Amino acid sequence: MARKFLLTSFDYVRPKDPNISLASSSIMAYLKTAFDSKETSKTLSLHCRQYNVKNAALEKLSARVMQDIKELKPDIIATGVPKYIVLGGPQITYNLKGTLEKFYPYGDFFIRGDTDAGSKSIYNLSELPSPLLTPGLVGHSGFVRWETKRGCPFECAFCQHKDSYEKRLKCSPSRITDEQTWIVQNQIKDISIVDPIFNSGGQEEYLQTLNGFLKFGYTGRLNMQARFEMIKAPFLQLCSQLQENGVQVELEFGIQTIIKKESQVIRRMNNLKAVVKSANELHARSIPFEVSLIYGLPEQTLDSFRSSLEWVKTFVKPTVIRAWPLMLLKGTSLYDMKNVYNLREKMLDEDLEELDKSRQYKGIPHVVESSSFTETEWDQMKSVALSINSENLNP
Ligand code: SF4
Repeated sequence: MARKFLLTSFDYVRPKDPNISLASSSIMAYLKTAFDSKETSKTLSLHCRQYNVKNAALEKLSARVMQDIKELKPDIIATGVPKYIVLGGPQITYNLKGTLEKFYPYGDFFIRGDTDAGSKSIYNLSELPSPLLTPGLVGHSGFVRWETKRGCPFECAFCQHKDSYEKRLKCSPSRITDEQTWIVQNQIKDISIVDPIFNSGGQEEYLQTLNGFLKFGYTGRLNMQARFEMIKAPFLQLCSQLQENGVQVELEFGIQTIIKKESQVIRRMNNLKAVVKSANELHARSIPFEVSLIYGLPEQTLDSFRSSLEWVKTFVKPTVIRAWPLMLLKGTSLYDMKNVYNLREKMLDEDLEELDKSRQYKGIPHVVESSSFTETEWDQMKSVALSINSENLNP
């Protein structure tokens, strides 16, 4: 009898998300391709379950997982009481070497880095099978998260991406073209590109991707994260052409702070002149864009947060402004500097989702105090942030 392999994932699932996350579908595509065509398919059957952590009480979630395990009786569970448990994902990747057994005593195997690449040295994302093109994997209702490359060339101190240009993985032009064809044929009308910075890592390639959407006649929403300083005229021209062809282009930019001292600590310097120049060009072309800031940064004060916000409102004038509270993520350099800036974290127990439906706060530790601000001042920053976020939600 075939041994059963169960891939479980614990995701924050938003209402329009496909039935399986991009990460899980990439892993399943790899496994299906590796095992379906071989003898092993007779000895290994593949299963996948996604659990939504949004507002889920731990007891309820555990009960659901246990029920699925009892029903399926898998031999191997890969996740994030069977024979082997394989753990992967950011929580595993960014824990220090030698500490995984302490944090995850029930894990038998750990995979750091791209789980769908396994232990192989992958240089081209196209060496991995496409989750969209692997039959029967992705069920959707018109929305997909899509990737053309992984990794980010920047090293912001609060962010878990630290890949450098050398470690970036790219999809080949042919895989991108095939997936765009699939997207149009399957009448997808809403795409979030998950590349950390879409307009980076080879202008020719990302312009070709945008051209592909024109060529295949895509119409629908196209959301991308971009960097102001890297905006070039051909990129803007293509965004305009896409808009003329009925594509709802949406760009997102992270500025985080405009204060030099704070920027230096978080290693996120902005060239403010270039930011304003690109913002003006976007306005001239009526291309909508969102800007986000962070509050609770080391060296930040209530006044400096307000200054960043006012500067963005006055000089950048984005369609939408967001401000998010700082979280300390394992493996980041800010996490290691916690004591230098006396960063104190607190598990938020209030449900702020009434005001902000796109993020979860409850049960997640956030920095609420540092050498430069008190918790009372952080509360005030939070109120300012929630008021601008709710303004955006109700334009
Ligand atoms: S915050 Fe954005 S720009 Fe900075 S390292 Fe992370 S993905 Fe890259």
